[in-house]
Amino acid sequence: MEKVKVLIIGSGPAGYTAAIYAARAGFTPVLYTGAQPGGQLTTTNDVENFPGYPDGINGPQMMIDLQKQAERFGTKVNFGLVTAVDFSGYPHKVTVDEKHVIEAEAVIIATGATAKYLGLPSEQKFANHGVSACAVCDGYFYRGMDVAVVGAGDSAAEEATYLAKLCTHVHLIVRRDEMRASKIMQQRVRNTPNITIHWNTETDEILGDDHGVNGVRLRNNKTAEETTLAVKGFFLAIGHKPNTDIFKGVIEMDEAGYIKVQPGSTHTNVEGVFAVGDVADKVYRQAITAAGSGCMGALDAEKFLAAKEAELSHA
Ligand code: NDP
Repeated sequence: MEKVKVLIIGSGPAGYTAAIYAARAGFTPVLYTGAQPGGQLTTTNDVENFPGYPDGINGPQMMIDLQKQAERFGTKVNFGLVTAVDFSGYPHKVTVDEKHVIEAEAVIIATGATAKYLGLPSEQKFANHGVSACAVCDGYFYRGMDVAVVGAGDSAAEEATYLAKLCTHVHLIVRRDEMRASKIMQQRVRNTPNITIHWNTETDEILGDDHGVNGVRLRNNKTAEETTLAVKGFFLAIGHKPNTDIFKGVIEMDEAGYIKVQPGSTHTNVEGVFAVGDVADKVYRQAITAAGSGCMGALDAEKFLAAKEAELSHA
């Protein structure tokens, strides 16, 4: 059985940053990429809000650079999907691709989250060409234009008000006659003059051509009335799903499936298992916060392993 000191599951900014730190601490970490090597940033064109890149950087390129940086210090990056974990004993056991079992002294979970989509074929067609699931990442590209946001939770309210500062007009598409967002966030939306809320409204189709999105066809689900809005950007804010299916029943999570960590740290309820990045963060969800928490995870793992070693030498 393969034995490793530090095993990292996931290859977004959190996973690679954890790998850089763990590798530089001399642990020769092993990282499994998961099904989407590079994570959510590989679905973004330009990243302009990651400090250190004054001219921005292409998302996939940034992930290639992070991988190279992790490898430079000795991280072993493997392509594979973790399909099962057994945290009942120690060391922990992790199964990759349903067959390869690894024994790990510390496990850093960095499996991220996946933005939810409506399921329209046009969403995929115009992904990165007008369709985005992150206003903070992509809003800037739509400044001075009209855009639509779909959703009615805190994310939708936050994204709509964020976009309203950049865009000429924001159409907020809400499927019911009320919003789920907190009262204060709703108030902010209502008090922003260039946001129009479309109640009881669903998205039938995102419209566009070779240049990207140029409109959206909506349907009122009470009156069946159809309308078309001219927009250049279509932002999804209907929630995220943390990628935690394999940890169900094994590790403590909140009601939405995000892994619970001890406040101000990356410690989970299982000794020697740490959670970093979006898999444990439903509020900030930025590449830079994920990277920061990846660093914390590696430092927490390092401290844990040092304490474990001291414990064994005294036994
Ligand atoms: P939520 O699950 O809270 O809300 C999702 C919204 O999307 C709901 O209003 C839902 O409508 C709508 N929706 C879901 N599916 C569809 C669909 N197919 N078509 C149209 N609308 C749809 O997700 P959020 O990302 O907004 O928030 C997640 C968590 O993060 C929450 O706990 C939130 O409070 C927190 N958060 C906090 C922030 C802050 O404090 N600053 C900022 C962002 C998030 P319906 O209401 O009809 O079900």
